[in-house]
Amino acid sequence: MNKTELWLKACKNIPGGVNSPVRAFGGVGGNPIFVDRALGAHLYDVEDREYIDLVLSFGPMILGHNPLAVTEALQNQLKKGLSFGACTGAEVLLAERILSMVQGMDLVRLVNSGTEATMSAVRVARGFTARNKIIKFKGCYHGHGDSFLIQAGSGALTHGVPSSLGVPEGVAQDTLIASYNHLEEVEALFEKHPNDIATIIVEPVAGNMGVVVPKPGFLEGLRRLCDSYGAVLIFDEVMTGFRLARGGAAELFNVKPDMMTLGKIVGGGMPLAAYAGRRDIMEMVSPLGGVYQAGTLSGNPMATAAGLAQLELLESQKPWTELARRGAYLAQGLRDGAAHANVPVQVNQIGSMLTVFFSKNPVHDTDTALAADAKKFARFFHGMLERGVYLPPSQYESAFISTAHTDEILDSIIEKATQVFAQIGS
Ligand SMILES: *Cc1c(COP(=O)(O)O)cnc(C)c1O
Repeated sequence: MNKTELWLKACKNIPGGVNSPVRAFGGVGGNPIFVDRALGAHLYDVEDREYIDLVLSFGPMILGHNPLAVTEALQNQLKKGLSFGACTGAEVLLAERILSMVQGMDLVRLVNSGTEATMSAVRVARGFTARNKIIKFKGCYHGHGDSFLIQAGSGALTHGVPSSLGVPEGVAQDTLIASYNHLEEVEALFEKHPNDIATIIVEPVAGNMGVVVPKPGFLEGLRRLCDSYGAVLIFDEVMTGFRLARGGAAELFNVKPDMMTLGKIVGGGMPLAAYAGRRDIMEMVSPLGGVYQAGTLSGNPMATAAGLAQLELLESQKPWTELARRGAYLAQGLRDGAAHANVPVQVNQIGSMLTVFFSKNPVHDTDTALAADAKKFARFFHGMLERGVYLPPSQYESAFISTAHTDEILDSIIEKATQVFAQIGS
């Protein structure tokens, strides 16, 4: 089947044709590509067209697609069995490996998706503090748990429904909202509810309204407020964990959260995520404590094999400094290309994460992100797609690079982008 036939069949059988809204081209128009296979920095669609992949499965593939050590680990496990529902050695080794890479976390529980990790972490924080309210930030995305679908980012922002139907009012009332990078709003919420806030959950670097970095003092301020009001600070590092540094954004910005959620990279491309925390907090989790959380496929042997192999490769290659150099190089090339065509852009970049915002003003929160010209982004997206570069299909997502994105590949992206900017500017 070609991609048009597939798309028709998809729409007939799956809501909106996709199994996750960000994959639809709702933010940019047109129909999605259908991927057949991938290798290194490249995707190949069902019609055998090659694309440079800047989506990387929305984050997991930091070493490019199909690193040999990861596929070999999967092949070895394949011979032994797919799921046991009993303890395995690999899950213990992965837990130990995770705790050795992130700082200040004493215990970790493996789950199947980032959504599960954040939902569970918040439940634990509520159990630990015996409080109900949580603070989240406008435009931050923490998966599709009820408590988080209020002013959410990612697909929610792209499709113009930042708050979901089907979330009971009672749940929504316990989610307090502040603007990212606006510490004074968080302070005001604590002053209003000094004894009711269980936790602040935050993307330490926001990636789900496009890339937005924390202003100096913002994360430190959240730490200070949690300390003075007895709330739990959760860094949702599902996107940034193992990507921005060995120990994620917490290490990069040197701010210590009480709990951390991890996903994407930690599973090496398989469905695996984790939540971790301080010992006294994590001892609340069943069967040690009274907070229940479980999973038939949690710590699945195929997923732990892939995750362990990918983290071991990361530990031996330590690619973070080099990835940051390449990220900065790509960002500068894109800025130069846009400037040459007189197209105002803000390229927000940190490490191997990057978003081109079509705006002449700096982007540092949701309001400034939403002020960017999404129509121009759509023209940019399609111009790049025609030239064989696959960007995330939304102005409000992060693009990613991997260790497989060589300077030569980055130069080719910059050259193509410069052509597309010239078309947009004329
Ligand atoms: C992707 C993401 C999630 C959700 O993870 P899923 O595996 O898609 O459920 C949560 N938080 C952040 C910061 C993410 O980027």
